[in-house]
Amino acid sequence: HVQTMRATAELVSDAIHHDTHAHAAEPAKDLPSYQADGGYRLLKACLDGARNRDDVIAAVNDAGLRGLGGAGFPTGRKWSLVRAEPGPRLMAVNGDEGEPGTFKDRHYLGLDPHRFIEGMLLAAWVVEAREVFFYLRDEYPELRLMLLDEIAKAEAAGLSPHTKVHLRRGAGAYICGEESAMIESIEGKRGLPRHRPPYVAQVGLFGRPTLVQNVETLFWICDIVEKGASWFTSQGRNERKGFRSFSVSGRVKNPGVKLAPAGVTMQELIDEFSGGMLDGHKFKAYLPGGASGGILPASMADIPLDFGTLEKHGCFVGSHAVVVLSDQDDMKQVALNLMRFFEDESCGQCTPCRVGTEKAVRLMAQGPWDESLLNELASVMRDASICGLGQAAPNPLISVLKHFRDDLTKPLSAW
Ligand code: SF4
Repeated sequence: HVQTMRATAELVSDAIHHDTHAHAAEPAKDLPSYQADGGYRLLKACLDGARNRDDVIAAVNDAGLRGLGGAGFPTGRKWSLVRAEPGPRLMAVNGDEGEPGTFKDRHYLGLDPHRFIEGMLLAAWVVEAREVFFYLRDEYPELRLMLLDEIAKAEAAGLSPHTKVHLRRGAGAYICGEESAMIESIEGKRGLPRHRPPYVAQVGLFGRPTLVQNVETLFWICDIVEKGASWFTSQGRNERKGFRSFSVSGRVKNPGVKLAPAGVTMQELIDEFSGGMLDGHKFKAYLPGGASGGILPASMADIPLDFGTLEKHGCFVGSHAVVVLSDQDDMKQVALNLMRFFEDESCGQCTPCRVGTEKAVRLMAQGPWDESLLNELASVMRDASICGLGQAAPNPLISVLKHFRDDLTKPLSAW
């Protein structure tokens, strides 16, 4: 486990240190500064009846805002679905941010916490949730203390008369980023994903209809409603609309969180936003969506990085955690490292994932790879696992079999 975590950390540590440095230079915006810039005006207008819920939902729908935790579900539609369920309704905020290489939520929370808090309170007002459970990963202790303070200040200022926010600590399990496992964890149980249906919008926290949103999705709500959907949709490339926050790490000169137009390609992200490749490194491959989104070769760096685009290549963009790899990285070793991560993090509830990840690690650690057996194992894991962890765990392995044939013939490098 320690080995796996070390290797995963190596992939992204530079980027996180870079981001931490940026934060040190710019402290979190406090409540008085946020209000001085017009913050909480929108929420007050909503609570005073000057804005109605349908208009707010319409603005978010017109912007085409998708859930930015990884699944990309249309946000306005989710709000309408939850609102259609009988009350009392609840809300849960997913701040678990456990996908390797993802650190955008941390970035935004650390810079402008009240923009997020106002978005959270606004969404709770839309679905009439009297209680909000904000699940924050425990690896962000400084953020937890700051948020406890800032949420208490917002409450003391009378900004949340309609709802009560509970800040809950995660306990380091990757699977608790999966929304139904997160709900189990908030309820005080072991984080095991639930079978669906019913969906959490129907039967979620404590058996009640629940709106689950990612931190970054809520962060953009106020800007979209106040500035209008066109503010968001006027940005974008390659026929995509809006912008996306990429957590860029790996072999680039300038890693960190990059706010880029939706539809930007990997090559553009490296050249225009990340200062190019590190000296002495030749761009070879990239992980478009953290550990689970698969691996693509540099020859496929001109595909728009957006929801629904990479799936035909067996990959996905998920939480937009991009890890750039170079000619100095061994693709078999990268895939093995990621499979070890999934083996460690499997919740153990279903056999294809619990046994499949362990078997895959054993097969991949020995050389040469038995391709037909690995393919068969990957199919079983994809088809029969209960949740996304087991279904996506074979993605890096399949990517290597498909795109990195040259690496297959080489012996596994030691690390
Ligand atoms: Fe647990 Fe893996 Fe099954 Fe998901 S796929 S329920 S993580 S064992």
